[in-house]
Amino acid sequence: MSDNCLFCKISRGDIPSRKVYEDDELYAFHDIHPIAPVHFLVVPKRHITSLQDVSQEDAGVLGRMTVLLPQLALEQGCRPGPDGGFRVMVNNGADGGQEVPHLHYHVIGGPRPWERD
Ligand code: 5GP
Ligand code: ZN
Repeated sequence: MSDNCLFCKISRGDIPSRKVYEDDELYAFHDIHPIAPVHFLVVPKRHITSLQDVSQEDAGVLGRMTVLLPQLALEQGCRPGPDGGFRVMVNNGADGGQEVPHLHYHVIGGPRPWERD
């Protein structure tokens, strides 16, 4: 946990968000500036800055997160099957375009066109 981290504060409920999912290790919430009809973020509650900082001990929670993404995407309105689908995006570090330094997976989907295709 990092005291000054926005997504640590959101995942422990100190800053309000529109929750999509929560368990002991993971928190998912709607992006404040959605770029598509479905746009939410999934974070590990434990502070990890980016994929540049993961270690073997994070493999379990990140694996669970990957398996959870399609379930949450469907619940949020992404269409199933090859004609549907969704995008998963992870920005890492400055060159990766990361703005919030707490690892987060963007899940983006819904009927096109999107704001940024
Ligand atoms: P990044 O560029 O770091 O991959 O993406 C950060 C994302 O966090 C952006 O899409 C931005 O809209 C979202 N975001 C930034 N601040 C907040 C906030 O306070 N609440 C929520 N729900 N989303 C935020
Ligand atoms: Zn954090």
